[in-house]
Amino acid sequence: MARVNSKVAILTTIGLITAAGTINFASLMPRPTGDRISIEGHDFVGVLAGGITGTSYSYVIPSATGVILVDSGQDPSGESIKAEVAGRKVHAILLTHGHFDHIAALPEFPEAQVYAGPGEGPLVKGEAPPKAPGGAIATKLLAGAPYTPPKFQEFRDGETLTIDGETFLALHISGHTGGGAAYIWEGIAFTGDNVIGRGNEFSRVPSIFYSDYDQVPVSMKKVFENHDWENIADGHSRITEAYSARAQLQAFVGDDGH
Ligand SMILES: [Zn+2]
Repeated sequence: MARVNSKVAILTTIGLITAAGTINFASLMPRPTGDRISIEGHDFVGVLAGGITGTSYSYVIPSATGVILVDSGQDPSGESIKAEVAGRKVHAILLTHGHFDHIAALPEFPEAQVYAGPGEGPLVKGEAPPKAPGGAIATKLLAGAPYTPPKFQEFRDGETLTIDGETFLALHISGHTGGGAAYIWEGIAFTGDNVIGRGNEFSRVPSIFYSDYDQVPVSMKKVFENHDWENIADGHSRITEAYSARAQLQAFVGDDGH
């Protein structure tokens, strides 16, 4: 436990030093809205699958004969995900990106087909460090042993993935990582860590956690221009619902997100 606490202290200190004088680091970090989040009229659930920093969501989507996950959290035991899955078969895991706090429980689901965006493979498998400096430091301090999923595939941008009766449009959106992904399913856009819902807007976490900060509004514009979604489920904060999600994303991409 002492070791864990010292890691968190080191990480916090690095963050504060990096951000000193320019931004209020803590106020820019995402806050999750609950342990288990959902929205009316949709039968998917987001569960906090946290580990040490405790704010990563994994989404559990029911399918014909089991479930499909979006991301697998930071907790290597996958405990909260397994509780939500409740013994159903995990057909696939759609990764929004390969940061350690979204892939930790992959080894718990070796039968699942794992998908990620174009070029994201080396990051997922731990063969390459994150380009984002904050991500690289956090990975060194907090990531588990590298793991290559037995069934792994990078999708093609714009590919339709049909899994156990469910259909996902997979879009390549770089910015947070080089091979980042958005998945659009049944009116929901799962967009990982590119934008974080906060108050009545979308914003970004501190720039040290992006491989290409300025690419984010460009990539999110690509999501905005798709009209098959009304709600955005992000990686650390919330599900932004239909009454405001499109307007909030328009504001983000329209003024370049600044
Ligand atoms: Zn990330």
